[in-house]
Amino acid sequence: MKSTKHCIELESKYGANNYKPLNVVLTKGSGIWVEDVEGKKYMDFLAAYSAVNQGHCHPRLVKVFQEQGAKLALTSRAFRNDQLPEFAKELCEATGYQKMLPMNSGAEAVETAIKAARKWGYKIKGVEDNKAEIIVCGGNFHGRTVTIISFSDEAQYQDGFGPFTPGFKIIPYGDIDALKNAITKNTVAFMTEPIQGESGVVVPRKGFLKEASELCKENNILLIADEIQSGLGRTGKMFASEHENVKPDMTIIGKALSGGMYPVSAVVSSEEILGVFNPGDHGSTYGGNPIACAVAREALNILKDEKLIEKSAELGEYLMDKLKNINSPYVDFYRGKGLWIGIVLKKDAGGARKFCENLQDKGILAKETHENVIRIAPPLTITKDEIDEAFTIIKKVLTT
Ligand SMILES: *Cc1c(COP(=O)(O)O)cnc(C)c1O
Repeated sequence: MKSTKHCIELESKYGANNYKPLNVVLTKGSGIWVEDVEGKKYMDFLAAYSAVNQGHCHPRLVKVFQEQGAKLALTSRAFRNDQLPEFAKELCEATGYQKMLPMNSGAEAVETAIKAARKWGYKIKGVEDNKAEIIVCGGNFHGRTVTIISFSDEAQYQDGFGPFTPGFKIIPYGDIDALKNAITKNTVAFMTEPIQGESGVVVPRKGFLKEASELCKENNILLIADEIQSGLGRTGKMFASEHENVKPDMTIIGKALSGGMYPVSAVVSSEEILGVFNPGDHGSTYGGNPIACAVAREALNILKDEKLIEKSAELGEYLMDKLKNINSPYVDFYRGKGLWIGIVLKKDAGGARKFCENLQDKGILAKETHENVIRIAPPLTITKDEIDEAFTIIKKVLTT
């Protein structure tokens, strides 16, 4: 039998040390539940950073994945396949955009949006060659490629990885005056997470996204929303931008687009913007492959059929109310939307890691982010009873 110790030793010996996971080795999952190699069961309160919104190993996703895998897995885009056209149509209809471009990881979709915005800037807005600027926010997380970390303000993400890609400006998150001041004639886009995930579920001041959207329109600048983590129901809306009635020019989607079954990401936008790409400009061997498309179609159907977006809104509010009524000596405050909650601990609480380890002991897997925030993000398939069960444990951990 594989033991936890054996797995950890093997991984440490042969795997690069680029993560510091909790010391739990999972082998099975179903819905919100996962099981480790010792047979202990946990509630998953991270859901793979919101990739598993539809729950682990959703039977409908497993079925489609197996069937499509046995039928046709990969053609590359040198040939056409019969799943991509249906996926393209359904994704555009579900998101209210005209066109989509499929990729695999979130970072690739962010890169795609950056390329589209730059090319739009040169070919349509008329920015002078190689002068395009994109404005982003402090505390952002958009992925790990060299270009993307070029505009991270997290020192560790950059340390040792230069030289960096130029053409980006960072403003404080939520600061509309800073955005105004950062705009020049060369600005092609403002890219932001409507709610910052990796920063610890940081919700900007109400009205910020709306004002930013208007500012972008006035200045002929594209608004790009990175909804890779915040999208597809996590905040109780299809997209977090909807909380401010904002329709970004481009929206970037990933993670839950496949319900955790397969890496699938996409950029959705208008004819004008995605129309800047010509054959040969951009692509990916696996992007838009039949398995990815079939799985993503089903993952979108599940969101709708199981009313997961509405459930996120309802149960998120229910859990937030309960949390706010805990009288914890460790908690500074709570923030978030839908089933996406950051528990911000006081400076002297000793860091979030030990609370996550305590939760793990008691059967809940959650992950600290930025030292002092516990992020709560269970699969959206969670039931009210399961929330009550989890709440009892969370309360115990936050009060003893
Ligand atoms: C996870 C994430 C990404 C990167 O996605 P990967 O699939 O890990 O490359 C980008 N943006 C946001 C907001 C994310 O949460």
